[in-house]
Amino acid sequence: MTKKIGLVWIREDFRIIRNYAMSIASKENDTVVAFYIYKERKFKDKEAQKWWLSKSLSKFKSDLKNFNIKLQIIKEDSYQKVFKNLVKKNNFSLYWNKIYEPDYLKFDQELEKLLSSKGIKFQVLKGNILNEFNEIKKSDSTPFRVFTPYWRHAEKHYIDKVPKINSKLNKNLKSKKYFKNEISELEILPKYNWFKKFDSEWSPGESEALNKLNNFINNHIKNYARNRNIPSILGTSKLSPYIKHGQLHVETIWEKVNEIKNKNGLVEKFLAEIGWREFSHSMINYFPQMLKNNYSKKFDKFPWEKNLKFFNSWKKGLTGYPIVDAGMRELYSTGWMHNRVRMIVGSFLVKHLLIDWKLGEQHFRNCLLDFSEANNVSGWQWVAGCGADAAPYFRIFNPILQGEKFDNNGEYVKKWVPEIRKVPNKLIHKPWEYKNGKDFIPGKDYPLPIVDHNEARIKALSAFKKIK
Ligand SMILES: Cc1cc2nc3c(=O)[nH]c(=O)nc-3n(C[C@H](O)[C@H](O)[C@H](O)COP(=O)(O)OP(=O)(O)OC[C@H]3O[C@@H](n4cnc5c(N)ncnc54)[C@H](O)[C@@H]3O)c2cc1C
Repeated sequence: MTKKIGLVWIREDFRIIRNYAMSIASKENDTVVAFYIYKERKFKDKEAQKWWLSKSLSKFKSDLKNFNIKLQIIKEDSYQKVFKNLVKKNNFSLYWNKIYEPDYLKFDQELEKLLSSKGIKFQVLKGNILNEFNEIKKSDSTPFRVFTPYWRHAEKHYIDKVPKINSKLNKNLKSKKYFKNEISELEILPKYNWFKKFDSEWSPGESEALNKLNNFINNHIKNYARNRNIPSILGTSKLSPYIKHGQLHVETIWEKVNEIKNKNGLVEKFLAEIGWREFSHSMINYFPQMLKNNYSKKFDKFPWEKNLKFFNSWKKGLTGYPIVDAGMRELYSTGWMHNRVRMIVGSFLVKHLLIDWKLGEQHFRNCLLDFSEANNVSGWQWVAGCGADAAPYFRIFNPILQGEKFDNNGEYVKKWVPEIRKVPNKLIHKPWEYKNGKDFIPGKDYPLPIVDHNEARIKALSAFKKIK
């Protein structure tokens, strides 16, 4: 009897626990081979993620060794081409987990058709989500557009209706390769070595994701609601790059958080953030046009300004507003930025500089290790005021007051903007007012604000009036 081979197409699911495709493949076949298709073109605008991807592939390869499973990396810019070649063989079954992005789900259908036409067995399994997005709808069968009722419904649906699946991974008797041409994960690393700090900040992989989750649950979750807005401390989980790359399934997070004793009132805020992730994935699938355009059509007429000088100052963290500059420098150095600061720098770009949110979205996409199509576009449209259930455009963050409120001793800004360390704390968020002429000279040691907050605010509100 011929031995059965199960091929598992790994995309954003570098995990053993709750990897439904891997688990089913290992039950139904004598041998499992995992493969990743590296589409270089897809990563052209996601430099930071190349680093995470390369490290994740290396770690997952070694994790799978314990199961005698090989992970092979194929380099090819066209998925179609890979599968057209693959189906010529017809000696395997194919398994993969879903990614909840319109392009991936569309390709799934194309691939299912191809495999069916060749009589090749396949299974498409649940991806990294609590609820399949199309299972959550209002009673009139239309999608929710407001977060709170969405999450109330989605949470209940998950608890009441979603079955718990056994996802044990069985070991291969012998490891086996399937593909002839493979590349090393080292080929994926960005060519320009700006990512020096990433190695000391992050350790991509499932075991580290689980450690981080446990540490967060044991030490931080109870203070999450209070500390999540303070960028100088570890108040949030910093799990986002692991969740994005599927090193941690959100069902595992849900399960572990719900095991906490006496948790009432302590975990809801954190779980609601997992809820925002579910909501943004649901939104981009029901309204895929929002990936490239304003969700709220009236913003199509917004008088955005093109100002390369301002845009470059923002990207480099040289706007003269310490909290904005600290955030942008944290992003560049570490591939991550605190959520409160993402909102501040985002608001500054679209409201103080009147620069289209799409340019900010692109920059984040290139620099974030946790870049997620759903969360990034939703985050930016929320900040700009044109998204679903978004912050109103006329609510304009004052970068001085935001700094004083959430970084009142200046710890965060002094870490990332060392030029202002000599400025006394009471002026740390408006260093241009410190004029003793000795140890710090505004405009020389650190830029003066590129726009005046009050003037920018008035200009933004009058621009907004034009589309009301
Ligand atoms: C302009 C802007 C862009 C953003 N871009 C991204 C992005 O590309 N990728 C990304 O994962 N998040 C993005 N976010 C959301 C949020 O900033 C990050 O998820 C969060 O900072 C990650 O840190 P954490 O893991 O410590 O979060 P925690 O507070 O510990 O939250 C736990 C998890 O919940 C999810 N989550 C938290 N906040 C949100 C949110 N507002 N929307 C959706 N999911 C959320 C994330 O998966 C996160 O890891 C963006 C927010 C803004 C304002």
